[in-house]
Amino acid sequence: MEYEAVIGLEVHAQIHTRAKMYCACPVVPDTGDVPPNTQVCPVCLALPGTLPVVNRRAVELGIMTGLALNCTINPVNVFARKSYFYPDLPKGYQISQYELPLAVNGALEIETASGVRRIGIIRAHLEEDTAKLYHQEDGTALVDFNRAGVPLIEIVSAPDMHTVEEVQAYATTLRELLIYLGINAGDMEKGEMRFEANVSVRPVGTATLGTRTEIKNLNSFRALAASVAYEIERQKAVLEDGGVIVQQTLGWDEAAGKTYPQRSKEYAHDYRYFPEPDIPPLEMAPDWVAALHARVPELPLAKKRRLMHDYGIRPYDAALLVSDRRVADYFEATATLARARDIAPQDVANWITGELFRLLNAAALSIDACKITPRHLLELLMRVQQGTVSVTAAKTVLAAMHETGEFPDAVIERLGLAQISDAAALVALVQKVIADNPEQVQQYLRGKTNVLGWLVGQVMQASKGKANPQETRTLLQQALEQQRP
Ligand SMILES: [Zn+2]
Repeated sequence: MEYEAVIGLEVHAQIHTRAKMYCACPVVPDTGDVPPNTQVCPVCLALPGTLPVVNRRAVELGIMTGLALNCTINPVNVFARKSYFYPDLPKGYQISQYELPLAVNGALEIETASGVRRIGIIRAHLEEDTAKLYHQEDGTALVDFNRAGVPLIEIVSAPDMHTVEEVQAYATTLRELLIYLGINAGDMEKGEMRFEANVSVRPVGTATLGTRTEIKNLNSFRALAASVAYEIERQKAVLEDGGVIVQQTLGWDEAAGKTYPQRSKEYAHDYRYFPEPDIPPLEMAPDWVAALHARVPELPLAKKRRLMHDYGIRPYDAALLVSDRRVADYFEATATLARARDIAPQDVANWITGELFRLLNAAALSIDACKITPRHLLELLMRVQQGTVSVTAAKTVLAAMHETGEFPDAVIERLGLAQISDAAALVALVQKVIADNPEQVQQYLRGKTNVLGWLVGQVMQASKGKANPQETRTLLQQALEQQRP
């Protein structure tokens, strides 16, 4: 029997605000640089008699996320207590949302090798992060409350995905969207995004859902993909053996590459939700929501399609360029200038995704720290087009511009990289290469014409990359023909 997988994802994303969700404590990055338990107050430590106050900025960013996910924003939002006991939860409950969450009924478009798909978004709601536990080797644990109360948005997809590839595309697309919106930096290592996957399998062609399992605490794209792939195969094997799938919560053992059942009591699903009595229902004024809608930026997939359409660049390059909004802006600034000079935007894309990315990666810099302005990059491409420098020399020029921020012409001058198109100088080099390589010359004359490329290379080398390759080729051919007896 053929089986198909049915997968839904829950994504928890930290919302980068200055203050926490229900108090004024600063949100600090989870890097271990800030001493533990210093960013705390009576509210986020849950001392008696304190009152939570909702962070307006977190709600605004949440609304923008909901709108970007094509959701309906509930006109009235209710916060709710989700009760459970765990040492990282100071109040003994989390202030979350249950009935009447922030946003409902949306969809996220994803692209896979088999085409475009719309994945339903059931809901997105606001809540607060827990504290962080540090398990010690002696079996005790330390707790840091700096993270307690950091705003989170939980985004729950419909069980609309059927392959690991779709899961990866969904997670990647959602991450890019959150970065575009300025929700967070998408840094998985800092826990800014965490996943949970619901997985079931069913015979192909049937509509009823199989029993599902839930994989918790997936903190990387790799863990997400590997655990879902493993779980699909595990469930198929159980069914093929005539067994039944047990509904349960699973953990992912990265080292063993296996899912494993978690103690059921730890995640007993009786959260006793009820409306949070300390926070009045939030009314979402329609003009406030409309104003936020106007602030939702052009999103990655829409931008990718527009760049392909407006600039005629390849899908692969467009995807690379839009993966960072600042890079896309840089490309557009350069490509607009380039078009006015008859330089193809695709050439601009090639230089950015090739050489410029290489330089930035090597220096671990983002594009806004780059010393090469769009105008300077364009000037360099013009020098290539005009034949002032070869493509090889232009790469050297770009590297120097990246180091010093100089104009391309200044670098070309300083490093003496202007191309030799002067016939006399080239002829001298060609004659020298012919004289130095009699064996290759004979091979050429006996009909092994592909040795010409090697000889061109020798001239290029002798000229330190400054010879004009086209002219070198022509001159070499002429000179070689003259060698025939
Ligand atoms: Zn606080």
